[in-house]
Amino acid sequence: MVDVLVVGAGPVGLTMAAELARHGVRCRIVDRLEKPSPYCRAIGVTPRTLEVWDDMGIAREMIDAGLWIEGLRSIIHGHPPNDAHQDLSDLPYSQLGLPQYETERLLARHLGRFGITVERGTGLHSLQQDEKGISARLERLDGGTENATFRYVIGCDGAHSTVRHALGIAFEGEAMPMTFMLGDVHVAWDLPRGMALRALRLVDNAAPDMFVAIPLPEPGRYRVSMIAPSELAQSGGSDHGIQSEARGPGLGDIQAVADSLIPDKPRLSDLRWSSMFRISMRLAAQYRRGRAFLAGDAAHIHPPTGGQGMNTGIQDAYNLAWKLALVLGGAASEKLLDSYEAERRPVGADVVARTRAANESHGRDAKPDRLADTQVRISYNGTAWIQDDAGPVDAGPVAGDRAPDSTGLRRQGVGFPVRLFDVLRGTEHVLLVHLGREEAPDLAAFTRKISSRSRIPLRIVGIVQEEGVNEQAGIALYRDVENSVAHTYGSVAAAFLIRPDGYIGWRGKSYRDAGLVTYLDRISG
Ligand SMILES: Cc1cc2nc3c(=O)[nH]c(=O)nc-3n(C[C@H](O)[C@H](O)[C@H](O)COP(=O)(O)OP(=O)(O)OC[C@H]3O[C@@H](n4cnc5c(N)ncnc54)[C@H](O)[C@@H]3O)c2cc1C
Repeated sequence: MVDVLVVGAGPVGLTMAAELARHGVRCRIVDRLEKPSPYCRAIGVTPRTLEVWDDMGIAREMIDAGLWIEGLRSIIHGHPPNDAHQDLSDLPYSQLGLPQYETERLLARHLGRFGITVERGTGLHSLQQDEKGISARLERLDGGTENATFRYVIGCDGAHSTVRHALGIAFEGEAMPMTFMLGDVHVAWDLPRGMALRALRLVDNAAPDMFVAIPLPEPGRYRVSMIAPSELAQSGGSDHGIQSEARGPGLGDIQAVADSLIPDKPRLSDLRWSSMFRISMRLAAQYRRGRAFLAGDAAHIHPPTGGQGMNTGIQDAYNLAWKLALVLGGAASEKLLDSYEAERRPVGADVVARTRAANESHGRDAKPDRLADTQVRISYNGTAWIQDDAGPVDAGPVAGDRAPDSTGLRRQGVGFPVRLFDVLRGTEHVLLVHLGREEAPDLAAFTRKISSRSRIPLRIVGIVQEEGVNEQAGIALYRDVENSVAHTYGSVAAAFLIRPDGYIGWRGKSYRDAGLVTYLDRISG
């Protein structure tokens, strides 16, 4: 029996299936469409998603296919342009631009490396679950049907999710009143490569006139979006998302909006595709019911402001996959799966609230916060499955935070420096311990004890400041020659248990702290 069915092969379903496979879980993935969607919705890839892709082993190929988003040119009321450059050079990755169809193509190729192909033209019709399993009725475009039973089903089937409907989960929120238009065009202007452009005319008590251009990797090409004029707005429906049935705007319609807002009246040409789209702001009342979960747009939809939707969904999948793998492999308690909603629903709620506020203020209240949309500050601190035994410490990340990267680590016998992210990469939990010279043998003994007690796959990484500490069986020792780990993680909390999704699950003053064993026992059940 295949353990998991992933419904939907958008960016979130593809990530879900690939991550399950990387963690050793057999799954199927179906999509009702015969071919992937040709429209480009998401372009912005956040620094945190690039860290996720780094762990998955696909960051390089994604970066090769994209371009870096360097900043934003704003033109307000036709005044001279103001360029804001975004400096994220202190993070491992900056903000990438990659059209969603490319993201999906590369994720599908990555999934193929695990021997998994999307079953296209296959839609989920209905679900039924009991304590033994969850049965899905699948319907194919050729008329064939299938009833198959799984241990879990993940609904990554977008805003109009069949899984969410089948579970009877409310999708609370509302629709924005206006219709938007999208197009993929060539623009002749002096905008430097990698810069986005936003032209606005603010109107009291009404939506502004706006024109937004996000650069695509091909030189001179942009995905442009704007509010549709009333005569064109009628042609769209009211459901969230691309109105693929409705006629899209023509090149002249898009040029007219650009001309009215950009004094230089840049020439637009070669419209490759266009469409109308609508936006709603909604959050699923639950992310899980029994053996079924929701992820991505099936769980949260909101305005595209700040490019958060796909990225949030990819990180939903990254959060859930390792937990399902531990539960299906018998290493963790089924209760661990409750942490998915506890951790990810507040993130979804925050994204809906923030994008809504940004959209309503149209930049009027904007206080520049360089890291706000990078997603590196997302933290699960204070949620039920995170444990902090270090007490108040004034430096370094707390339990629940993303484990930050560090550079310049040296390992005995290895002739080059390594990054902490390279050390953390993989599917196990990693216990990261600041070690004094005398402690290495004790840590090796502790490692043997803890490995015999817990079935949670665990690697132990010792960080030493001094020279001449030798490798011990069962632990990997790295010398922090640049003091980078000590600086980034602080020196008071001396042990961090880093989960497979790169978040700190437990933190303590010492690895000998009884809290670590309590934490692991709780996950194991
Ligand atoms: C104009 C615009 C710009 C955007 N820009 C950004 C951005 O820059 N950055 C960002 O992060 N996000 C952005 N977004 C949001 C982003 O596009 C979505 O969040 C993302 O597509 C969600 O991915 P998903 O996999 O959850 O859902 P989807 O991409 O909607 O995929 C769902 C899949 O499920 C399939 N499906 C549906 N029902 C069934 C069924 N019953 N059985 C089988 N298959 C089914 C569908 O065919 C589809 O392939 C933007 C959105 C828009 C509209």
